[in-house]
Amino acid sequence: MARVVVVGAGLGGLAAAARLAATGHVVTVLEQAPQVGGKLGWYARDGHGFDTGPSLVTLPQVLEDLFAATGAPLSQVLPLQRLDPAVAYRFADGTTTAMPGHRDDVPARLDADLGPGSGAQWAALLTRAEAMWRATEQPFLRTPLAGAATLARLARNTADLRTVAPGRTLRGLGRRHLTDPRLRMLLDRYATYSGSDPRRAPAALLTVPYAEQAFGSWYVPGGLRRLPEAVAARAEARGAVLRTGAAVAEVLVTGGRAAGVRLADGEVLPADVVVCNADAASLYGRLLPREAPVRRARAALQRVTPSSSGFVLLLALRGRTPGLAHHTVLFPTDYDAEFDALFGRHGGPRPVTDPTVYVSAPDDPATRPDESSESWFVLVNAPRHEPGTGVDWTAPGLADRYADQVLATMAARGLDVRDRVRWRVVRTPADLERETASPGGSIYGTSSNGARAAFLRPANAAGVPGLFLVGGSAHPGGGLPLVTLSAEIVAGLIGPA
Ligand SMILES: Cc1cc2nc3c(=O)[nH]c(=O)nc-3n(C[C@H](O)[C@H](O)[C@H](O)COP(=O)(O)OP(=O)(O)OC[C@H]3O[C@@H](n4cnc5c(N)ncnc54)[C@H](O)[C@@H]3O)c2cc1C
Repeated sequence: MARVVVVGAGLGGLAAAARLAATGHVVTVLEQAPQVGGKLGWYARDGHGFDTGPSLVTLPQVLEDLFAATGAPLSQVLPLQRLDPAVAYRFADGTTTAMPGHRDDVPARLDADLGPGSGAQWAALLTRAEAMWRATEQPFLRTPLAGAATLARLARNTADLRTVAPGRTLRGLGRRHLTDPRLRMLLDRYATYSGSDPRRAPAALLTVPYAEQAFGSWYVPGGLRRLPEAVAARAEARGAVLRTGAAVAEVLVTGGRAAGVRLADGEVLPADVVVCNADAASLYGRLLPREAPVRRARAALQRVTPSSSGFVLLLALRGRTPGLAHHTVLFPTDYDAEFDALFGRHGGPRPVTDPTVYVSAPDDPATRPDESSESWFVLVNAPRHEPGTGVDWTAPGLADRYADQVLATMAARGLDVRDRVRWRVVRTPADLERETASPGGSIYGTSSNGARAAFLRPANAAGVPGLFLVGGSAHPGGGLPLVTLSAEIVAGLIGPA
């Protein structure tokens, strides 16, 4: 039995706490914010309610595993709802397609909406994606990162390595296998699921649309914030202690081992094991003593591009929108201009002039005051908050001006709600940074930009014995399923009491 301190109550920290408490460890979770959940936030006012972070659950089996391993199954605690259609897309030429929620229905829909042959091209790509998934799920996603050993595991079979196409980018793969520019755009969008640029992200991200279409797109009725609440309840039921309003200022290292933490108010909590759910950049940059033996991890972090952030509008709307899908994506004419702006190509990071707009509008009574109102979460990709070197999202007037611009963009693409706005809340990358302690408001830690990015991502075992990293900034990456998998990996590395 070890005394474990978990720093941060995001989904990764909570899932690790639940697993470790369930296997007999004495677990304390310390969260700096007044509530648990991290990026899985919730905003409520006048009967309107909004998830402020994730709006889409994929790979539900990972959550099912978590609940099954720690007590009653997910279906008894938090039944999920499968979305069909998964997303309604609108392209710049005015074409629309409602992507079915089941893989087998996709080809016919694409043929009907984008033209004959589109379905077959997409289906062929997903067949390739399925092979990639098989080659990478166990040796990469479900296994601790171990440098060359991880590559060797992946390469144990040269056919697997060829399938993953290590030298190719997601964009390159689309160019080669898809002829319709709209299909290519659809594929490119999956790079943004890890805050990356499809021109630099590896072809292996093809597993993202595979996972989404093969295993479905899901919603948590009542809002996704119920997910961290349920995992927190599970952790507590298994004996973990959760403390909010408890900011960790330092991870203590004694005799070369993690020895506990010191809180911002000076309180010291000794521990045998420290699991860090705070961003890896904070851990290596600020929380660990300068002399901690983590030089390689610090150097690796210098070599990767942080993931992009998001600019969010919460819209409390009068009236209902007939035929609106749960998720809608409005594409721009020039997708590359968006990635140039996000990652600072041709003149530094800047807000995207003509961004892709994502609208999540759950048809869920828990999110609206009455049947003639709606609550929309609107997200556009945004560069990180980097005063001095990039965009300063706190600059006077910027957030409101940009919010108006996003609403005008939506209107120009057929979704004009400006005269229905009861009120709006604007949330910039600076807000995300402040509320979730995520440096720059990066959504997914480091991006997948570059062929080696996945292998440079911080490993779950830090260089210091007794110290582990869990969550979106560590292996295997960001997004709810991967973060939950990272907790499974960390619990496996620590082992039962
Ligand atoms: C706008 C937005 C949309 C998204 N959409 C999706 C989506 O649709 N689907 C999806 O799968 N994913 C999505 N994501 C990503 C997803 O939210 C994250 O990958 C995931 O929630 C991250 O979980 P985590 O465990 O890494 O921790 P985080 O949620 O980052 O939580 C870390 C916690 O640690 C705490 N902390 C940090 N430092 C300290 C300290 N020193 N002391 C104490 N506590 C500390 C923070 O306050 C925070 O609560 C989205 C994210 C955002 C912001």
